[in-house]
Amino acid sequence: MTNAVVAIGGNAILKKGQPATKENQQRNLEETCRHIASMVQAGYNITLTHGNGPQVGDILIQNEVARGEVPPMPLDVCVAESQGLVGFMLQQALTDALRKACCDRIVPCVLTRVVVDEEDEAFKDPSKPVGPYYDREEAEKLSKERGWHLHKDLSRGGWRRVVPSPRPVTIVEAPAIGRLVRSGNDLVIAVGGGGIPVAWRNGRLEGVEAVVDKDLAAACLAKSLKDDLLVMLTDVEGAYVGYGTARERMLGTVTAEVAERHLEEGEFPPGSMGPKVEAAIDFVRSGGERAVITTPELLHMALASKAGTQVVIR
Ligand code: ADP
Ligand code: MG
Repeated sequence: MTNAVVAIGGNAILKKGQPATKENQQRNLEETCRHIASMVQAGYNITLTHGNGPQVGDILIQNEVARGEVPPMPLDVCVAESQGLVGFMLQQALTDALRKACCDRIVPCVLTRVVVDEEDEAFKDPSKPVGPYYDREEAEKLSKERGWHLHKDLSRGGWRRVVPSPRPVTIVEAPAIGRLVRSGNDLVIAVGGGGIPVAWRNGRLEGVEAVVDKDLAAACLAKSLKDDLLVMLTDVEGAYVGYGTARERMLGTVTAEVAERHLEEGEFPPGSMGPKVEAAIDFVRSGGERAVITTPELLHMALASKAGTQVVIR
């Protein structure tokens, strides 16, 4: 039995340009879950994690639009909300897909916190844009009243809040997730949206207004669970060098060393493919057997090493 963490990217939930209706998200998840159910049928013991970008973005907008009526919630609480929002839709889609493919399984979703270090460099330079766009006046007000950092985004003509994106240190609920997973009967959803960031302050864990990259958090979980395999499902067949140029070439099976060299050469941007490749390298260097980057459609082929990018130790 191979134990695997499978991370589902944003596009598996909502495709570019699609309105974020419940129906659209449910339909996309159903499609993705068909492929995940085949993986379960093939004998893999899976823990699922997922992105939350557009979902937490919408929750923030709802908070801002309604702020005259209902007090807005801080970002950590919004991330927690998004774990429930996506987690529930995933539970529904997975339960149905599993029943059709092979088996009745319980699909518990664990509200998950991730410990971050407030000394992390990311706190000195908040860079991850979240939530709605504001005009200059509003931006100045928010900066003064709430101490937010806002960046001007010229291409979209507005100001937007930026928050730190620190590295995950540990997953608080990992031991509990491990017990559920090893029971062999449950297919656990956890660490949604990279987890709810918390930090130790005066001997207790407190929520932090930050976001953790979901792929780095997935690697952190896979390491804690001592899994063999980390799969990152996204909307490209794999990691490319020369991406978007005439000389672009997809990486097939590569060692962590080769992947790291391409990463250092700037082939994989920080906001998208970069963290996936970083997560893959980190995972195999910490004892994982292999890490795979591919699309849901190619999952089956990729597990047989016939598609996608495969990062191995040697
Ligand atoms: P996800 O929601 O799955 O995490 P991201 O948008 O964060 O998706 O990352 C996937 C995207 O990374 C692809 O859609 C692709 O446009 C982009 N990308 C940037 N550089 C590369 C690269 N070198 N190889 C492959 N994809 C890349
Ligand atoms: Mg991403």
